[in-house]
Amino acid sequence: MNKPLSSSDLSAYWMPYTANRNFKASPRMLVSAEGMYYRDDAGNPILDGTAGLWCVPLGHAQPKIVSAVQKAVATLDYAPSFQLGHPMAFELAERLKQYTGNRFSQVFYTGSGSEAVDTALKIALAYHRIRGDATRTRFIGRERGYHGVGFGGMSVGGIGTNRKTFNSALLQGVDHLPHTHNLEKNAFTKGEPEYGTHLADELERLVALHDASNIAAVIVEPVAGSTGVLIPPKGYLKRLRELCTKHGILLIFDEVITGFGRLGTPFASDYFDVEPDLFTTAKGLTNGVVPMGAVFVKPHIHDAFMQGPDGIELLHGYTYSGHPLACAAGLASLDIFEQDGILEHAQSVSDYFQEAAHSLRGLPNVIDIRTIGMIAGIELSSIPGKPGARAYDAFRRAFNDGILIRVTGDIIALSPPLVIEKKHIDELFGKLAAILKTLD
Ligand code: PMP
Repeated sequence: MNKPLSSSDLSAYWMPYTANRNFKASPRMLVSAEGMYYRDDAGNPILDGTAGLWCVPLGHAQPKIVSAVQKAVATLDYAPSFQLGHPMAFELAERLKQYTGNRFSQVFYTGSGSEAVDTALKIALAYHRIRGDATRTRFIGRERGYHGVGFGGMSVGGIGTNRKTFNSALLQGVDHLPHTHNLEKNAFTKGEPEYGTHLADELERLVALHDASNIAAVIVEPVAGSTGVLIPPKGYLKRLRELCTKHGILLIFDEVITGFGRLGTPFASDYFDVEPDLFTTAKGLTNGVVPMGAVFVKPHIHDAFMQGPDGIELLHGYTYSGHPLACAAGLASLDIFEQDGILEHAQSVSDYFQEAAHSLRGLPNVIDIRTIGMIAGIELSSIPGKPGARAYDAFRRAFNDGILIRVTGDIIALSPPLVIEKKHIDELFGKLAAILKTLD
């Protein structure tokens, strides 16, 4: 048991995406983690229903990752990423490429999901320019999309509250597709909802407005996570792909949460059988152990740069691109995915997980439940005049009762480590049901 920190100990850390004053008045502190559980500072186990922030597919303190990172830090703690290489960075890129079934040919490393998104946007612009298509500078995002907090990602993102403070400092020339969430038509669906495929055709409207010759790329999350588990309608992503191809627009998937097994396949593009031109990842890439993101590109993207003028092909990169510790964690994670049959396990429990989520139907205030792969969204009705308050109350109570859930607005998002077993699913949904029964 750890000594509780006093309120003055808490003041220096300005916490991200947190109501700091509220948190510091009654902090929740995690001090260790192993397998499916965190422990708080009073020593209580907390079942991880969210894989940290969607980033721990293999469970916590995986011994193979721990020892790979320990070995790496003692061997090569850091290597400059510009003009110098180290073997693990190349080895990981090759393994990642193989993990896509060799459909993608190169990997560009970043330090986070936000950096991966901004990198993908920059690659898209540079790709068109190098091919003589320099007018293609516009991006199309989607309402309710979340693409991290860089200026690029925030601009293509579609969350009004995140954008409003930054107003005209956001990227110019960005437009948004409508989101696909429709409670009236699609409530309580398992997998892809039936209604809403036609919303992909809104891209035609934006093309008519801006002209294809001015549009660089469309970026979407295959399944939007941060804004409350929005699952694409059947055929929607295929239609987007067709329209992008028709108009010479690049399609970028932001797979920061869907990458590395969340849907029981290596990537969401495998699950939906739709291939973007480039896609972003982070989080599960290193099992959350060392920060790392990556952009995967198809051969035609990389070839365009290699056929361009000699010299540095892309004037872009980070001090921590391909950090040795992150590469070690990434390689060990891939080993575990492959050797321990993680995807097969996720596939084998996902139906049980989804059924358990849908068993909450009928409990007070539950207005929708939507599930896909190892993701569940449970939407609660809002308390009039207090949006988000009901789900936040559920979150606080859940923590006290020993389960970690994530809430966004009045939506509970669950995305446990893929190594979850049925007994954990029973614990997670049993406790959540008890909480929902007694919420105001
Ligand atoms: N894209 C998506 C789809 C995400 O879900 C997130 C993070 N939740 C990001 C980008 C940003 O990643 P990071 O927080 O690592 O910058």
